[in-house]
Amino acid sequence: MPERPAAAGHRGGAITSERTVVEEVAVSTDHWIGGERVASTDRFEDVSPIDEEVIADVARGGAAEARAAVAAARDAFEGWGTTAPKERAEILHRIADGVEARLAELAAVETRDNGSLLRSHVRSVIPRVARNFRFFADRLLALDGSADAYDGNTEHVTWDPAGVTVVISPWNAPLMLATWRIAPALAAGNTVIQKPPEWAPLTASLLADIARSAGLPDGVFNVVQGIGEEAGAALTSDAGVARIAFTGSVDTGRLVARTAAEHLTPVSLELGGKSPFLIFADADPDAALRQAINQFDNAGQVCLAGTRLLIEGSIYDDFIDRFTDAAHAIRQGDPREETTDLGPLITRAHLERVEGFVERAKADGARLVFGGGVAPELGGLHHRPTLFVDAPAGSEILTEEVFGPVLTAQPFADEDEAVALANATDFGLAATVYTSDLARAQRVSEQLVAGTVWVNCFFVRDLNAPFGGSKNSGIGREGGVWSFDFYADVKNTVVAPLTHDRSTEGEQEGRT
Ligand code: NAD
Repeated sequence: MPERPAAAGHRGGAITSERTVVEEVAVSTDHWIGGERVASTDRFEDVSPIDEEVIADVARGGAAEARAAVAAARDAFEGWGTTAPKERAEILHRIADGVEARLAELAAVETRDNGSLLRSHVRSVIPRVARNFRFFADRLLALDGSADAYDGNTEHVTWDPAGVTVVISPWNAPLMLATWRIAPALAAGNTVIQKPPEWAPLTASLLADIARSAGLPDGVFNVVQGIGEEAGAALTSDAGVARIAFTGSVDTGRLVARTAAEHLTPVSLELGGKSPFLIFADADPDAALRQAINQFDNAGQVCLAGTRLLIEGSIYDDFIDRFTDAAHAIRQGDPREETTDLGPLITRAHLERVEGFVERAKADGARLVFGGGVAPELGGLHHRPTLFVDAPAGSEILTEEVFGPVLTAQPFADEDEAVALANATDFGLAATVYTSDLARAQRVSEQLVAGTVWVNCFFVRDLNAPFGGSKNSGIGREGGVWSFDFYADVKNTVVAPLTHDRSTEGEQEGRT
């Protein structure tokens, strides 16, 4: 977790207390509660990782703002929860229209705020934001609760709106990750309070503008800006909250789950990873290399990244040589440039955290193949793509999430060893297998402990599929009907035929 942002003292440039202009886009820096912009006297500085400039002075919410947002969201719940699914779906589609219409602005602000590549935001990340809304709008209308008749009765499942949903998300893809939870929660008929990441809080504010223009009623979507331990903790401990959807680190996930336990508030946790990337000798060498290099994407700040390359012994040396050559071709620089492949890390404290992992890996006896520090010619927050080999079994660099452009490589002798190495962490978010033997792919994937296994591909999936983590990588699955199962109160209604009351017939098979 990066350090807490500084309290705002800076009032220079285009910054005012309520609005700022970022990349020529006007962004409110206040909360959005009950259909109104709400200011806070306390504010925090939002620093761009591109040049470490303060770009916004953002409202710093706490207990009072959390209470106000929960009250507004509860007030709006009755109306939204009883709005016909078709109408809810239409509004979600209009939000998607608004995201598409403002794609360039959203991408520019997000890049300035979190330092990810502009070209990725334009081509895939922000389009996925729109898709999140469209997908769950359509999926809502396709929910089918009919069940087989049992013992002469008919049964019918409904996904009833549950109430106020708090969505807390990290900075590495702020709007995409938040809307992956906001869209199904709204589709399910819940009202939502988003607490954006304090290191990249701005696109949440633009989403509020878009939702209002799309006709989402006041109070159905709210944004409380602020620091995790303040605004986030206040929201997750509120008894008026029905669901908490949290994406972030394992440590914070534990805290959130502990807080939620007080009111038995259901939590869905999407947490960190240390995913294995297995390459067998029979794999397509070019495809495997191309995807292995992609594990440096977003400067390694990707929960799903396959940061542990596990390579069959017979091709190990050759693969490391080719991987090293390919890594040297990665172009680091300003994420707004089309030619840049790798941008900066999110904050100086995070850069120092990544450097700490690198130094400790060396001290533990791992051998540096390339990278291993800040890119001196770039300065700022750019860390070089880095590869370690020969790390001792069980050492920190093989077991802990770095969340930076730092990979390890390990050789394996056979399938059994590949699986043992792959499963040798407390994480279980994802795993990737490259092999041309599909029988082997099936044998291996059956033994991998992970929420998602990719075979000869990476980072692609149907939004109907379940997504989530095993072990410390999370609790629960979302996607398709799994999302509705979490955000809704799932109800089964059993209807006996009108001829007589079957519930008085004494012991029956299947009684609950
Ligand atoms: P983080 O846990 O520090 O923060 C995540 C969010 O939690 C932020 O919005 C923060 O304000 C909030 N928060 C902090 N303390 C809180 C508290 N006490 N109560 C409530 N909220 C609180 O994580 P991060 O550094 O922002 O993100 C990086 C982590 O997120 C990595 O571990 C990464 O793997 C994980 N991640 C997981 C997924 C996934 O889908 N599984 C996706 C992206 C990132």
